[in-house]
Amino acid sequence: MENEVRRRIMDERLKKVKDRMSKVKHKIAVISGKGGVGKSVVTVNLAMAFAVHGYDNRVGILDADITGPSVPKIIGLQGERLVAEPQGTVIPAVGPLDIKVVSMGFLLQTEETPVIWRGPLKARAINQFLSDILWGELDFLFIDLPPGTGDEPLSIMQLLPEMDGVVIVTIPSEVSQIVVKKAVTFAKHLKIPIIGIIENMSGFICPKCGEEIDIFKRGGGQKISEDMNVPFLGRIPIDPEICEYSDKGLSFIVEHKNSPAAKAFMEIVKKIEEFLKSKE
Ligand code: ADP
Repeated sequence: MENEVRRRIMDERLKKVKDRMSKVKHKIAVISGKGGVGKSVVTVNLAMAFAVHGYDNRVGILDADITGPSVPKIIGLQGERLVAEPQGTVIPAVGPLDIKVVSMGFLLQTEETPVIWRGPLKARAINQFLSDILWGELDFLFIDLPPGTGDEPLSIMQLLPEMDGVVIVTIPSEVSQIVVKKAVTFAKHLKIPIIGIIENMSGFICPKCGEEIDIFKRGGGQKISEDMNVPFLGRIPIDPEICEYSDKGLSFIVEHKNSPAAKAFMEIVKKIEEFLKSKE
């Protein structure tokens, strides 16, 4: 009986989240096998690349990385608070290029306070949070999930309706190849299509001589995509400006549009568009 009630509540919540997201055409989750590979930086820059590509005013980011929400800082919205409407709806904040942003980080008391939620409270908070957001009409919503393939990203994924697919971010070293396999298995287990793998921090272009240096060994992402029969979306080199712009919350894609990293993001946009077209 108790289970039945719980299931009904869950179904109702899922329905509400689905309604709220019904005007979002494409929902894409960004995952990684482990933290620190640049998942959030890739999510933000990908969203910006889509906005620049012609989807301006039609792109959103949901920062669902509850343990370490870093999107607000990267997109220059640190310290922002969400506006709650009387009917219990939440209006996203608006970042550069009119990107709509909602982050768990907006719910924190101060920037230094980590979010420490206990299990059941956490599930309830996320659930409530997702069902309250009024995204409006969007072409793309990018979801920055918590790192890894454990309970946390899993439970959030299960709350999100009709995902178009996941993008897996990795760095090109052996150890990350093992963890990326877990990420591939994770998406397959959830029956969510894998749009492809992005190899971040792939090579370093010397700002002085322009020569490319492979700091972490190149090609790990490409190799794993071949091994696991998953598309490869592209390589983003290490660019100190990405770090600099992320720290300042400025748009790297706009300010450095001719850099190899910005061009790589724009190529990835086209590949994701092709993927979505092939699904129509
Ligand atoms: P994750 O979300 O996977 O934990 P972040 O996106 O927070 O990782 O990135 C970790 C750090 O690496 C940040 O300081 C970020 O600015 C930096 N970074 C990520 N990708 C790049 C890149 N391609 N070039 C330079 N710095 C990068």
